Amino acid sequence: MKAKKIFAEMNDQVKYELESAYLYLQMAAYFHEQGLDGMARWMRVQALEEQHHAMKFFDHLVDRGQPVTLQPLAIKATSWKSPREAFEAAYAHEQFISGRIHLLVEVANTEKDHAAMPMLHWFLNEQIEEEANTSKIAQQLRQAEKAGGALFMIDRELGTRSFTIPPEVTIVAGAGGAGA
Ligand code: MG
Repeated sequence: MKAKKIFAEMNDQVKYELESAYLYLQMAAYFHEQGLDGMARWMRVQALEEQHHAMKFFDHLVDRGQPVTLQPLAIKATSWKSPREAFEAAYAHEQFISGRIHLLVEVANTEKDHAAMPMLHWFLNEQIEEEANTSKIAQQLRQAEKAGGALFMIDRELGTRSFTIPPEVTIVAGAGGAGA
């Protein structure tokens, strides 16, 4: 049987989700350097979420008997001029990831890979949320630039974010298990 393109694209997506985690961890470091620990916390939580996204694709490939080949990670930037610029970069990155998910849906449709659809639909919804969250914070930071002190209110607010491990995802429990 000819290897499906959808599996190659999912393999690439493991890399893109891990690059997201890597980028947000770099942004967390940037915010700590700026003394903005709330924003750093938000980014640390986001980086954890991205690792779970990567594991969803990883487990899907494993569960379907497909090889996983991890690739080198790359991030474009390691520093930003302002918190606003960092969150605008996060929003732009999520728009790129949404484009990737849309491509995966198109490839799965073309190859009539119905088994991939529930997971890809989960990601379509997730990307709506990811874009909404990052663009909203970028918008608030644009407003904050006009009002002194607002930056620290946003920092406090973002510092309340917490992370709960999604029950359907396992990172440490061994191979597979995406559907457990
Ligand atoms: Mg993601």
